[in-house]
Amino acid sequence: MSHATDRTHDRDLRSWVESANREGSDFPIQNLPFGSFRRRDSGQTHVGVAIGDQVLDLSACENAGLLEGLAAAEACTAHSLNAWMACSAEDRRALRRRLVELLEEGTAPGRIQAVGKCLVPTEELELLLPANVGDYTDFYASVFHATNIGKMFRPDNPLLPNYKHIPIGYHGRASSIVVSETPVRRPQGQTKADDADSPTFGPSKLLDYELEVGAFIGPGNQLGHPIPIEEAEDHLVGLCLVNDWSARDLQKWEYQPLGPFLAKSFTTTISPWVVTAEALTPFRVPAFERPEGDPQPLPYLSSPANEAHGGVDLTLEVWLQSERMRQEGHEPIRLSRGNFAKLYWTVAQMITHHTSNGCDLRPGHLLASGTVSGPTKGERGCLMELTTKGAEPLELPTGETRKFLADGDEVILRGYCEREGFVRIGFGECRGRIEAAG
Ligand code: MN
Repeated sequence: MSHATDRTHDRDLRSWVESANREGSDFPIQNLPFGSFRRRDSGQTHVGVAIGDQVLDLSACENAGLLEGLAAAEACTAHSLNAWMACSAEDRRALRRRLVELLEEGTAPGRIQAVGKCLVPTEELELLLPANVGDYTDFYASVFHATNIGKMFRPDNPLLPNYKHIPIGYHGRASSIVVSETPVRRPQGQTKADDADSPTFGPSKLLDYELEVGAFIGPGNQLGHPIPIEEAEDHLVGLCLVNDWSARDLQKWEYQPLGPFLAKSFTTTISPWVVTAEALTPFRVPAFERPEGDPQPLPYLSSPANEAHGGVDLTLEVWLQSERMRQEGHEPIRLSRGNFAKLYWTVAQMITHHTSNGCDLRPGHLLASGTVSGPTKGERGCLMELTTKGAEPLELPTGETRKFLADGDEVILRGYCEREGFVRIGFGECRGRIEAAG
């Protein structure tokens, strides 16, 4: 894994696709996130990259001979990104360099004409799940989230003794991962009130979101062959936004002794664009600095490169718009803003720990970070923390209040990376609207 920037990150690069050069665009030529989509004209499913308000259809590019000589060219004709994810980091980098050549200002007019035929306005496409997610694991990597939540479930014993030694996770449900803008049906389930003798079954009353980041796995490993920490980044293809919707009342009653189950598996929403590890290079930062007195990670979870570049300076925001806000013309309001670099564990440590017992990770598998929260109240990544389990409700501009999510509420996650001397890149949005149970 190279941590050096190259000309694909140059701040002076501009695209002949004008919308990509607009100040604040999530998708300048320095980003080029990958996704999968259905063309409304032909009904065909292809993969592509976002550039400004357009999508470059990679299958069309390959058919036009624009990807000639690239090892990753064939993967560009697949219906999902799994084949591209299976390519080596070197082959993916070569593809990125070619895409920059095709899209940068100064490209020969004849070539611009050929590439132009492969561009489709994003609004004319139906964005799909970027990959077939064969398996999904959710971690718990924010020590601030783990401590805040731990206090509510176990006031005397918030952080369990393993937390600072093991990247804690549970096996999530891949089948119920949906792409942004898919409606989210309020789940029903079994809950038990503290003062009740027995549980009841019905719609969740304490529905929450969790602001998370997803890491897509690249080549991966064979069963029985762990990925050492020095190689872990070679298996990180890129990141997306994840909303791990959570029914807190179901969770409270079911989570012991085996951890989350139906409180989480009803729906998980992800953003359609995979922001590549290459695009994130300028925004890599040291791993979270552990406070004095905390144990150092065991040797298999430590490397100088991970300490120096294991973090990603990625700002994350949560926005909310209620049904009434929509009706009365109120824009969504921001509930929190945090940063991915404040996680206790890095993605490389999650990959290495996950495979340390020999478990295999494969192209398109998804590892989510767990709720990204920071030390201050404005950085709390779920309502459970923001409202202190409902004790401090939020006020909306309509005069409504929220302890947890109501039917009709839309939650919007946004993410972006900024650094002096580089062009800002964004993740697009991860949206979901709550529908009544039924
Ligand atoms: Mn989670």
